[in-house]
Amino acid sequence: MELLGKSREELREWLAGIGEPAYRGDQIYRALYQERTFEIAQMTVLPAELRERLELAATITLPVVRQRYFSKDGSVRYLFGLGESSEGKFATEAQSSQRQTEKQIGRRMSRPASVEAVWMPSEKRQTICISTQAGCAVDCQFCMTAQLGLIRNLTAGEIVGQILVALQENEEKEGDNAETQGTQRSGEKNEGEKRNAGEDAGVTKEEKKRAGLETGVPRDKTQTNVVLMGQGEPLLNYESVMAAMRIVLDKKAIGLAPKHVTLSTSGIVPGIEKLAKEAVRPKLAISLNASNDEQRDLLMPINKKYPLKELLAACKRFPTGSREYITFEYVLLGGVNDTAEDARRVARLMSGLGRVKVNLIPWNPGALPYKEPTEDAVAKFHRILLEKGVPVFTRYSRGRDVMAACGQLALGEMKDSSKSSVINIQ
Ligand code: SF4
Repeated sequence: MELLGKSREELREWLAGIGEPAYRGDQIYRALYQERTFEIAQMTVLPAELRERLELAATITLPVVRQRYFSKDGSVRYLFGLGESSEGKFATEAQSSQRQTEKQIGRRMSRPASVEAVWMPSEKRQTICISTQAGCAVDCQFCMTAQLGLIRNLTAGEIVGQILVALQENEEKEGDNAETQGTQRSGEKNEGEKRNAGEDAGVTKEEKKRAGLETGVPRDKTQTNVVLMGQGEPLLNYESVMAAMRIVLDKKAIGLAPKHVTLSTSGIVPGIEKLAKEAVRPKLAISLNASNDEQRDLLMPINKKYPLKELLAACKRFPTGSREYITFEYVLLGGVNDTAEDARRVARLMSGLGRVKVNLIPWNPGALPYKEPTEDAVAKFHRILLEKGVPVFTRYSRGRDVMAACGQLALGEMKDSSKSSVINIQ
């Protein structure tokens, strides 16, 4: 039984099923997600006899950090290895036939894969960007992950695990605030670059201290935000994503407020409608990136299935709280979707949608054949939206020096089995 990713009810049920009091499930739930205890032997709230039993019958599998890349801007980019799950390993004979089928499905679902997550500190705040699938089938033309195709869906445990690892690693670190630490890091460029070259996945705390790369912010001073904007389309892995979100948003588990968790979708309309019916759900963000269907069909072929009219209608119906808004992400590609006319069309698309905001993200040049927009084009686009009354923010990608586009690390790894040459920072 893999414990990570299980809900409180699932743990209670499983414990009762093996003849233990169900409340032991609550204790394990709290230990895993609130106390972040990932070794059964360390769960001292449980009697020693039960811990011994669980050691034989259960596992807690966190994503393995295969590489860490330290950006000059303070963010840490993780390449996580996700291995085979041991789900079903301890099935009783009576369960074996059903388990056999589950194991076959499980084997397909739990193929080894690599995904990325990014931890981004700022003053009194940390944002963790996580992946929900390994690779992606959606085929957005400006996205490196699309080139991987869909490798597999992540389990709830693998989704939650990325957050837990990032939190655990970074809360262990010392320092008063991220701003100060960012300055430390830029002053230690050479050491940082050595790390970025991927020479060592297992950087010790001591090593990082020497390199000036201790980046953490004390837990009680830090607001944590989680964004589902890494590899994958979250709404195409709906059940696992929502199982993970229930743990993230449960006060008795990780306990983030819904306003601090954002799910970003390429525009899967049935998924948006399903999400709208959830009692507890993250905020919604739409990856828009085009100002009309013609343009969006080319940049995001998913638009042919769910065109703008349908997508925006689903957004209009999406229930938002009194202070909640839907975010529209718009990657500005130089000479493609960054004209004044595009800005005016985006403003028209936003009208009548209720509480929305637009995040402009100037393209981060990389391996794909798109150009960075000029500063003038970005400023003009921003100004037009503001003048039309659309709340707008221009954001530059964090971790630009350590490959900002999701999918780049995993793709690099797939293309080149030599770990030391995965990353070419310059
Ligand atoms: Fe998939 Fe998101 Fe990349 Fe589109 S942008 S291909 S939805 S990972």
